[in-house]
Amino acid sequence: MEKKTILTGIRPTGNLHFGHLFGAGKTWLELQDKYDFYLEIADVQALTDNFHNPSKVHLNVFELTSDLLSIGIDPKKVHIFIQSQIPEIAELTVFYSNLVTMARLYRNPTVKTEIAQKKALFGNDGESVTYGFVGYPVSQAADITAFKGELVPVGEDQLPLIEQCREIVRKFNSIYGDILKEPEPYLSKTPRIKGLDGNEKMGKSLGNAIFLVDDDETISKKVMSAVTDPQKIKKDDPANPEICMVYYYHKLVNQENVETVCEECKKGARGCVQCKKELIGKMNEFLKEIREKKHYYREHPEEVLAILKKGTEDARKVAVSTMRDVKEAMQIDYFEKENNHDE
Ligand code: ATP
Ligand code: MG
Repeated sequence: MEKKTILTGIRPTGNLHFGHLFGAGKTWLELQDKYDFYLEIADVQALTDNFHNPSKVHLNVFELTSDLLSIGIDPKKVHIFIQSQIPEIAELTVFYSNLVTMARLYRNPTVKTEIAQKKALFGNDGESVTYGFVGYPVSQAADITAFKGELVPVGEDQLPLIEQCREIVRKFNSIYGDILKEPEPYLSKTPRIKGLDGNEKMGKSLGNAIFLVDDDETISKKVMSAVTDPQKIKKDDPANPEICMVYYYHKLVNQENVETVCEECKKGARGCVQCKKELIGKMNEFLKEIREKKHYYREHPEEVLAILKKGTEDARKVAVSTMRDVKEAMQIDYFEKENNHDE
């Protein structure tokens, strides 16, 4: 039986964080054995809100790819490719942009949340939100459909983008014929990991993430600053672990002791400092192997480049074939026909 096609993407705007690993990465690791898997390094999308900082995006293409390899993404099973190097995606984006209204894009909950976050972080009045940024869901529909993606693993924050893609596909097919596939979202078991500040989402651009490349000292500082129950003042005050980010992360990396942590916290039998120190120790233990692999790839950038090149070449072949079908359906395949006459 043919394997189903999976496409997912990640923006090269920073390194992988715990939110990626537990929210998305673990699912990717399971899926890479079962599906034909395309993993896009979405540099074009990263440029929509980082256009003024090309070196950040460039550097992070390599950082992110080596992070992905370090958590166990296997390039023999997954086509890891660079979005900007597949021109067909840009072409599709132009055609799809006629099939979406501006009002619909502004109503997209993901776009709405991200614009609100930008305003909160950078204090801008919204005037500086670009056409490219508001339109990135259109570009994401092009990403998915270029590879005839059937399943799209995403975090909860991205579900409305899949819905937007499905609408574009339906519209396209109703006008031009049954060419594109409507993708389904694939939610991981933990679709959203919270940030250090207690925010519902840990995010690269939100300043609330613990990155897999963070060293011992950085992890110590971040965990020490994590949000805990504000009612707990003294070491032996009882507290509510459910509103404590330290307990929340114990659940991720210290599953074997999590019940003890919870009970002791509720009884006031453990102080926050001790609890945070234990968490720091567990996080460092957890990251040991990932850090070793990361060190290897930092020493061997040529391997990372070769993996990206091969993944991009393989992905391009599929996109070219989709584009041929799309152009034929849209009657813009002028010279293809001419070529056929020559044969
Ligand atoms: P940025 O702030 O630049 O948007 P990000 O941290 O949101 O970065 P993305 O590259 O946008 O990361 O997302 C990559 C994938 O990881 C998406 O599928 C997204 O849903 C998922 N993801 C990101 N953050 C989390 C999180 N905190 N919990 C679960 N999944 C997440
Ligand atoms: Mg994001």
